[in-house]
Amino acid sequence: MNICVIGVGYVGLVAGTCLAESGNDVICADVDEEKINLLNQGKIPIYEPGLEELIERNVKEGRLHFTTDLDEAIRSSEVIFIAVGTPPLPDGSADLSAVFDVARRIGKNLNGYKIIVTKSTVPVGTGDEIEKIIKEESKSDDFDVVSNPEFMKEGAAVEDFMKPDRVVIGTSSDRAFEVMKQIYEPFVRTENPIIRMDRRSAEMTKYAANAMLATKISFINEMANICERVGADIDAVRRGIGFDRRIGFQFLFPGVGYGGSCFPKDVDALIKTAQKQGFEARILKAVQEVNINQKRRLVERIKEHYGERVKGLLFAIWGLSFKPRTDDMREAPSIEIIKGILSLGANVRAYDPVAMDNAKKIFGNHIEYGENPYQTLTGANGLVIVTEWQEFRRPNFERIKSLLSEPVIFDGRNLYDPKKMKELGFEYYSIGRLPINSPHK
Ligand code: NAD
Repeated sequence: MNICVIGVGYVGLVAGTCLAESGNDVICADVDEEKINLLNQGKIPIYEPGLEELIERNVKEGRLHFTTDLDEAIRSSEVIFIAVGTPPLPDGSADLSAVFDVARRIGKNLNGYKIIVTKSTVPVGTGDEIEKIIKEESKSDDFDVVSNPEFMKEGAAVEDFMKPDRVVIGTSSDRAFEVMKQIYEPFVRTENPIIRMDRRSAEMTKYAANAMLATKISFINEMANICERVGADIDAVRRGIGFDRRIGFQFLFPGVGYGGSCFPKDVDALIKTAQKQGFEARILKAVQEVNINQKRRLVERIKEHYGERVKGLLFAIWGLSFKPRTDDMREAPSIEIIKGILSLGANVRAYDPVAMDNAKKIFGNHIEYGENPYQTLTGANGLVIVTEWQEFRRPNFERIKSLLSEPVIFDGRNLYDPKKMKELGFEYYSIGRLPINSPHK
């Protein structure tokens, strides 16, 4: 099948590549010339495990192409996926200008029946708007607009696209549904469902999924904050509740709050959508508020620990991306944490296995950049762990102690055992766990 994917970001590049891998002829189109040039030189603009090999193979076998010529890409395709960004506007609602630009472009180039698939996360009713725009531009009804929200996780995006838990397809057109089913059948061979529904419900499903996941994170962070105050241990509580199958363990890890390009913006956009209908989404507002406070927890701890002498001290940061296995820094908690430390008058030296280039675009020369985890620690007054990369899980603690000028660790991901850390001579702070000297332990 001839497929075009417009918007070659984290979602579009992964989706386009995986669709080529299943045998389709895919053309990925973007307005960003630099990005397309890089891709055409065989360079991958993002870090995503497994993606590079897949791109290389599919380009070599002639099924995957990259272009800035959107018009030609549209004209030569039967199915067009829209995967452009939908960033937040200052009031929290989704900026749909790129989606509507693409819709106009499709309308101008409609040369026969096409299926337009919205993969970007868009507020309920956007499909209707896209349909209206294409109709106005093309003066034709010979197309269907389908909502097909994307549930991939950055860091495991290829795996998620190749083996989705479920595929949601929102359309009232049998013709479009049959084509979508053909496209997705190679990815659901283990009987995971393709769920058909109306377009508005499909659009809403994406927001509901992200709102639920964000709620779980804020919930466990709230429990952690209560644990700290009442002398309970969130790790024990987590185990105690997680084995209840109604609750489960997934997304119940206390930490520094959620970030990334999706949860913060999508929860905000859903609050805004509800508000426009005169409804106050009270749970979602609390979820966001808890998250904003959680991002400040480590900086508060640092302030409490060092007091007035914090000015001029140096802090080593391990982990900058918003989660492991990605270089994405959008809304990363590390940004708030680093800004917080700098605002105390202290200095930062940071290290991340893959996000250093993106971090440099944000912090420039306001912070130092470490060459590796251990070099980052040299002479620092404390280590702050922000992202739980695998390589930080079992470090050489003796080496850490010898490199730091004070043996203090602020662990935003609960990677280490508090008892062991005390034995090793560290002052160790983590999230929602019993203080080391607690009489309850
Ligand atoms: P991104 O910012 O990485 O990529 C968006 C791409 O769209 C960019 O390459 C940009 O140049 C391109 N673009 C912008 N305007 C364009 C236009 N008018 N014509 C052609 N190309 C244009 O974004 P992303 O993270 O891939 O997200 C894309 C959409 O998918 C968003 O709506 C997002 O909410 C949703 N989504 C993202 C994820 C994720 O994990 N990143 C997961 C599920 C859904």
